[in-house]
Amino acid sequence: MPIAPKLRFIAELLGASALTLLVSCGGQDPTPPAPPPPADMVLKNGYVYTVDATQSEAQAVAVREGRIVYVGQDAGAQAHVGSQTRVIDLGGRMLMPGLVDGHIHPLQGGAETLKCSLEYLPLTVAQMRTRLQACLDASKDKEPGGWLEVVSWDRQAMSTADRDPARADLDSLTTRRPIVITSIDHHTSLVNSRALTLAGITAATPNPAGGSIIKDALGQPTGILEDGASSLVSAAMPQPTDADRAQHARIALDLLRRQGVTSFMSAISDEDDLKAFSTLSRAGELTARPQFAMRFGTDDAGKAAQAMAAIKAVADRYHQAASGATPVISVRHVKLFMDGVLQAPAQTAGLLAPYKVNAGSDSHPHWVDGGSKGPLYLTDDGVKSVVLEAVRAGFDPHVHAIGDAAVRRSLDAFAYTREQLPNAKFRPAVAHAELVDPADYPRFKLLDAVPVMSFQWAQQAPYSVEAVKDPLGPERYARMEPEGSLFAAGATIAYGSDWPVDPMAYFYNLSIGVTRRGQPTHWASFGPAYAGRLNEDALLTRATALRSITLNAAYQLRMDAELGSIEVGKLADMIVLDRSFMTAQEEQLGFTAVLLTMVGGRIVWADAPFAPLAMAQRQATNPVPVPVPPSER
Ligand SMILES: [Zn+2]
Repeated sequence: MPIAPKLRFIAELLGASALTLLVSCGGQDPTPPAPPPPADMVLKNGYVYTVDATQSEAQAVAVREGRIVYVGQDAGAQAHVGSQTRVIDLGGRMLMPGLVDGHIHPLQGGAETLKCSLEYLPLTVAQMRTRLQACLDASKDKEPGGWLEVVSWDRQAMSTADRDPARADLDSLTTRRPIVITSIDHHTSLVNSRALTLAGITAATPNPAGGSIIKDALGQPTGILEDGASSLVSAAMPQPTDADRAQHARIALDLLRRQGVTSFMSAISDEDDLKAFSTLSRAGELTARPQFAMRFGTDDAGKAAQAMAAIKAVADRYHQAASGATPVISVRHVKLFMDGVLQAPAQTAGLLAPYKVNAGSDSHPHWVDGGSKGPLYLTDDGVKSVVLEAVRAGFDPHVHAIGDAAVRRSLDAFAYTREQLPNAKFRPAVAHAELVDPADYPRFKLLDAVPVMSFQWAQQAPYSVEAVKDPLGPERYARMEPEGSLFAAGATIAYGSDWPVDPMAYFYNLSIGVTRRGQPTHWASFGPAYAGRLNEDALLTRATALRSITLNAAYQLRMDAELGSIEVGKLADMIVLDRSFMTAQEEQLGFTAVLLTMVGGRIVWADAPFAPLAMAQRQATNPVPVPVPPSER
């Protein structure tokens, strides 16, 4: 090897600062290269987990003007330290890219933190009543007319522990107020008689489209409302104001930065969501990069092109062009629903073969094929035209599909659109994909379709055992939540939390991708009774789990050129963990905490020992002006 390349080779091993020294000593080049301009921040003495193409690891990162300008060894970082550079000693801790959540409901989640919560607990009816009375007693000023809104009700756990409740259970509480309780999957409401009256629901009220008013043997409403029937009640309730929504967005951002989320996609959005986040954007309050998937109404399938033009007009009003490293609002996706949920009693996920029904008794069950395969909310032609028009309008389709028939039909629509528009570089996603026919596993890679998975659903829970095991039968149950199989078939898997369907607990959820079992001592688990492994679908490696919530979710959201890994030139969206997710004991993975969150080089959250950094940063940072959508001017 000639001397200069050889020196350069050695210098690369030693770090960039050594290059100058070695080259000048070698006498080959009399003018040393100019030192790099000083970085704003250097993080050193860490375990830098980059998620780059070769999964490389480093010690130090330098950041200037919100972007990464150096990744390497501590020695090389020294060249980036100037008199004004803030140097952070990571003390050996793990630094990784910020989390990217490919599917979340931030406004809904933020709003729910302000409501009476049943906290996802497996309650008996009596325990629920005690909690409801406590909420009522704590807000007596709302008597007699103010609605009591109750969230995070685990209906499946209650039916397993006790029985399905009814309005009589609420009517005997000490109150005159209307009460509405929403299940964790948002597919069921339970209301009291006062709420039924205000909503105008009587024995004579027919089921609305896409929903059911459950009635007793005498034909009277029980208080249970499934899917679309809940909207009869919400129409009778006071609606949140713009100021309320902005506050809900603010709460969500606060929770997200504490857990290390630096980008996310709001998975069912309308103009109200865009308005709320625009308000925060103008005030310089965005501490994560928000994306929005605009809701496509199933009823609009017959006139997809016009409906898409209307969505496009709204999206264009709020979508903000990039503004340096500052978070901006991106509206690039359209959300459509192919089906509902797998769980009994709803069973609204679209299957290739029927749900099974018990033809025997409770003591001697005999499960046989029933008459229902569940609904599909769009026809074959319908979903094809919606996906085609979404892509024509410049959107990426984000399709809710849970059952194997709904997934297949979604993939068929992607294939059709790829044929029709061979030059369109769209990135379709299937959200949830809880049951996929094995023949369809390889199609995700072939069609460049991203499955957006919620790994926590691969733990045992009332919703994943009692509510689905027998109705699906052993063959299908053995391949529920197929992220391992999809990965083996070459799919680019992204993670989506679906919060607030589950509690916000990112590292616990990621740990279940690695173990496919709950950790009974974790607060978000379902306890020792549900500690076993869900099924034998393959486990993900820790590296794959982390890639799914960083670079792969960034790919889904078309942000992978800018973020998702720690590489020179990318935005400095990074987090510091309290332990190494790559080497911690398996039962400790779920307890991983985020100590520092940085978005575009700005520290937006810090806990001990880094807490003083957040204080200093808050004093130094002024809101950055961002473009204002015309409708907001
Ligand atoms: Zn969702």
